[in-house]
Amino acid sequence: MNREIVRFIQNRLNEEGFNLACDGIAGPKTMEALRSLAVIGEHWTRRECLAGYLQMLMGKISNPVVINGRWTDETDAMYRKLKFHYDSISGNASGPLKWPSQSEDELYKFYGKVGQHQVRLHLPYPHVLAWNPKKVVNSYSCHEKVHDSLERVLHRVLEHYGYDRIQELNLDKWGGCLNVRRVRQGSRYSTHSWGIAVDYDPSHNQLDWGRDKAVFAQPEYDKWWEIWTDEGWTSLGLAKNYDWMHIQAAAI
Ligand SMILES: [Zn+2]
Repeated sequence: MNREIVRFIQNRLNEEGFNLACDGIAGPKTMEALRSLAVIGEHWTRRECLAGYLQMLMGKISNPVVINGRWTDETDAMYRKLKFHYDSISGNASGPLKWPSQSEDELYKFYGKVGQHQVRLHLPYPHVLAWNPKKVVNSYSCHEKVHDSLERVLHRVLEHYGYDRIQELNLDKWGGCLNVRRVRQGSRYSTHSWGIAVDYDPSHNQLDWGRDKAVFAQPEYDKWWEIWTDEGWTSLGLAKNYDWMHIQAAAI
């Protein structure tokens, strides 16, 4: 059992009046608290109790959810939605964030060495590889310092557009994040080298295209850009009118 999930559950239980140590361990006190709740089945295992509690929380913030204690892949996705929801209402997710400038010195100071401190971002909706749309991407690597911000962005994109519209607008066409390399025609590292830049829909937003050609310059994408800029990210398209595919957690 993932400690992070157990800690999340302990925090929620404490908000309901329990007084548990938030240590991420589903020990006797945590289990006693869970079992005292009416929705938890009498003979459920530890794992079923935890899954059941997440299902109950999910039912409170969305459509009714079956509370059966079954732990599936969807339960993990459910946890991430819940975490996003509770972070948002508790103010943990407040923005806008201040990212460093893209000078190499600043980037080293803030993010450390290139290619380091990477974590996996589990996506709230599936992406596909831009150059091979048959290949589904459910997670990608990014720098630990941008992880939560990226996650909030994508949750908000999903909330605003919905998955069907995301696909129509090609917001699921992923062009890469972490990639340790130098910038074209230069010796400095690309912001991709730190896993703090993401490319979306490169084929309709090519590097040297301006707003006359780049699809992301069209008004359907206003909200997309609002969401990114709320989190302090920089779009090269908005700022410089080229490379509209590229969004980075560094100012220019
Ligand atoms: Zn890029």
